[in-house]
Amino acid sequence: MAKPRGMSVINRVGHRYGMLTVIGRAPNRGTGKNATAHWVCRCDCTNVVIVRGHSLQKGNDGRGGTRSCGCLTKKIQAERLTTHGMARSRIYRVWHMMRQRCNNPKSGAWETYGGRGIKVCEPWSDFETFVHDMGLPDAHMTLDRINPNGNYCKENCRWATRHEQANNRRTNRYITFNGETKTLAQWAKVTGLTVFCLRARLHRGWPTEQALTEPKIRNPHYLRNSS
Ligand SMILES: [Zn+2]
Repeated sequence: MAKPRGMSVINRVGHRYGMLTVIGRAPNRGTGKNATAHWVCRCDCTNVVIVRGHSLQKGNDGRGGTRSCGCLTKKIQAERLTTHGMARSRIYRVWHMMRQRCNNPKSGAWETYGGRGIKVCEPWSDFETFVHDMGLPDAHMTLDRINPNGNYCKENCRWATRHEQANNRRTNRYITFNGETKTLAQWAKVTGLTVFCLRARLHRGWPTEQALTEPKIRNPHYLRNSS
């Protein structure tokens, strides 16, 4: 004869399990060998629920189980939804603005994007594909192209902090001359001048043409007499 289940039951009355305090024993569920002990519990949110003893123990041991009337799970889910929802609406704005810059000649940024031939790759005309490829950004991150002359596509894009992106932009400053747009580094190669020299000239307010075409003078004081 099996020992009646009730004899071996741990008395849980008065014990706390997460947000639940056991206030009494509930009738067993099941019969004979399958009978399981249940307990009447009050949740911190004032709900009263009946929970299986085994479930309470599991919750206490950090193995899942039950730690509230259900309000805790709902609360966590609601928080997750809000965070997720905010990130979703933010990434949607990012996606929308990216397409505007590249596809809409009336966009304020058209000249430095679509007007320069920067395109959004075909798969990214679909918002969901964009989200799938890029993942959701952290709150402080912006969409950054690794190669500033490259297109918006999975291989050339990353989420970057504003600082990282500003750095990328500084070293890749664009100069348009004779209908050609190149980075400072690219112009340096073409003109044979150094990036430092070009940057210094432009910083002094030299017109683009002069900055790019005037031969480098050995005398470092040239910077003082810019005109
Ligand atoms: Zn509750």
